[in-house]
Amino acid sequence: MTIRSDEIGQALRAEITRIRRELCDLHALLPANGLVAWTSGNISARVPGADLMVIKPSGVGYPALTPESMVLSDLDGNVVEGEYQPSSDTGSHAYVYRHRPDVGGVVHTHSTYATAWSARGEAIPCVITAMADEFGGEIPVGPFALIGDEAIGKGIVETLAGHRSPAVLMRNHGVFTIGRDANAAVKAAVMTEDAARTVHLARAYGEPIPIPPDDIDALHHRYTHVYGQRPAADGVDEQ
Ligand SMILES: [Zn+2]
Repeated sequence: MTIRSDEIGQALRAEITRIRRELCDLHALLPANGLVAWTSGNISARVPGADLMVIKPSGVGYPALTPESMVLSDLDGNVVEGEYQPSSDTGSHAYVYRHRPDVGGVVHTHSTYATAWSARGEAIPCVITAMADEFGGEIPVGPFALIGDEAIGKGIVETLAGHRSPAVLMRNHGVFTIGRDANAAVKAAVMTEDAARTVHLARAYGEPIPIPPDDIDALHHRYTHVYGQRPAADGVDEQ
């Protein structure tokens, strides 16, 4: 049952307002990191505790995005509040949230190097320690899927089920990343393009040397359990 705009209580309203602001700020990171051209690319965030998500409006340029322009939809992709149409990838983002309760944010880009790997239908092999850290192995390729319904979402969920990677290269299309929140998914999108570029250059001049699986496991474990600043307040592992 879809919630109506006038049924949203005060606490939920405050949370949605916070997420609209956060999502607007995060969208600025996509052009800042060279991950998008014109209006391509989008970010969504789950509204914790509600079957709702906030996503970029369709076809609106990055400089024109405001917290108010973000679209609130339910997890079937139906608009609950929005002056604009939501991103054409909304159905796929919604599919990911419905099937992955651990996911709080989804990012999509056509970032150049990563999308070039996707155009070849080739996974990015784990040949640098930064990839072992962040992705725990290769960045896999998902199936070719048409834009507009849930097909891409299904491909994302099915492909990532077999990998530690928070990123998937959808064939002939581009990058989708997931995270426990939208910020983590943006980080994964930035790291995906960085890895794609480095491994592309490595391969252009020779044959990259694979990292043994045991070493990938050790690097990934250290990065996800030991590395970085640990917030004292809640004891949650920070990457
Ligand atoms: Zn796309």
